[in-house]
Amino acid sequence: MNDPTDFGPDRPVLLRGGTVLPMDDAHSVLPGTDVLVVGDRIAEVGPDLPAPDGAVVVDATGGIVMPGMIDTHRHMWQTAMRGYGADWTLTQYFVWYYLEYGKLWRPEDVHAGNLLAGIEAIDAGVTTVVDWSHGLRTVDHADAAVDALNAVPGRFVLAYGNIQAPPAEWTGAPEFRDFVRRRITGDDMLGFQIAFDVTGDPAFPEKPAFEVARELGVPVTTHAGVWGATSDDGIRLMHEHGFMTPETVYVHAASLSADSYHRIAATGGSISVSTESEQSAGQGYPPTWAIRAHDIPVSLSMDTSVWWSGDLFSAMRTTLGADRSREHMEAHARGETITHCSLRADQVVDWATRGGARAIGRSDDLGSIHVGKKADIVLIKNDASPVSFPLLNPYGHVAFQAQRGDVHTVLVNGRVVKHEHRLVGVDLVAARSEVERTVDYLRSTLGEEAWQKGMNPDVPETKILDNPYTYTDYHSAATHSR
Ligand SMILES: [Zn+2]
Repeated sequence: MNDPTDFGPDRPVLLRGGTVLPMDDAHSVLPGTDVLVVGDRIAEVGPDLPAPDGAVVVDATGGIVMPGMIDTHRHMWQTAMRGYGADWTLTQYFVWYYLEYGKLWRPEDVHAGNLLAGIEAIDAGVTTVVDWSHGLRTVDHADAAVDALNAVPGRFVLAYGNIQAPPAEWTGAPEFRDFVRRRITGDDMLGFQIAFDVTGDPAFPEKPAFEVARELGVPVTTHAGVWGATSDDGIRLMHEHGFMTPETVYVHAASLSADSYHRIAATGGSISVSTESEQSAGQGYPPTWAIRAHDIPVSLSMDTSVWWSGDLFSAMRTTLGADRSREHMEAHARGETITHCSLRADQVVDWATRGGARAIGRSDDLGSIHVGKKADIVLIKNDASPVSFPLLNPYGHVAFQAQRGDVHTVLVNGRVVKHEHRLVGVDLVAARSEVERTVDYLRSTLGEEAWQKGMNPDVPETKILDNPYTYTDYHSAATHSR
């Protein structure tokens, strides 16, 4: 019974003596604090709690105990191609998935991507992921997506989408309704959203899809403010037709006017910021610096592992960097100096936890460590790492010092899914062979030339200008390398 590696679902878990970040409005820090989990809930938070009989006791001293992180926008199916598009722009991404090869994906390929992405998420302390699943060109693909999510002990929200057909068409299909009836059963481990983009076509062809979402009582999530793809027109059409609601999640919202931000703020929706993505794909400048002024709720996301990391440490770090970078740059353009950063480390930790919970309508039971809430908890602790001490500023430590390898223990719904840096109850070997089969299939179907070309887009020609400082023999590294 006291075998520490036997994590039976009925065993209480006591995280002993960590620095707890409960995530409240004051962004409190509770040093030397225990967290007791009984069943799927947080039973007690405080110093020196007695360990119930049979409890799994985790030594959290020297570590940080925080709520599980929540990613509100990840195309999990694309994780089967991890890193393939590292040098892409949005244009290359659209060509590869939307126009050319996305339609090659079979249900088993969606399963493979989702399985690996789900495992990767819990390993990194991301206990809830919104699977922005826009590769569901048949209901068989959707069944495969859910089968994979069910096979991973994480919490997920299936955001059902299909880039290969108009939203009005696939949301109106009887088999879509049937799928929702069959697979979305109210289990709190699997939420549901409908995912599609609004083109800005004045005829508003997306209207029937919004009506389906309204009828089913489920939120819509949409890529908004994506340079060259979705614009203020889409927001205005949604607003004029009454489809902007507090449940709506606007992904990126990076190239929108103040008018669109006003409409989002006025209707209570939230923005999912994917800074790593916006910085290199080209949706627009990561928008937190602009939307802070509108008091629009923010959550964080990492978009897709075909380019970027699957962890929210990177999201927090890049979001702080992009926001501060912009603030300095704008001030310099005015001849001014920023002496105090507006965006603070504790705020991005809040966005990665409470912000995500709010975005998916789960503020009541997720996103913070309080008695009675669901036990989705992460312990960041790595005694072997020189980065683990001194622990002076816990929020700053999470945002700038910690990384996925420091995730020591993870609980989802009260269940230990990672313990002492090892995943529990997860078949990574099976996920690896599924992903290998998908990669082999895609690679052989495309042929070696197209496969390599897709991964290695041409580099535009750069003209190196003559250096005007002719009084020195020094030549820059850039000149030498050409
Ligand atoms: Zn996306």
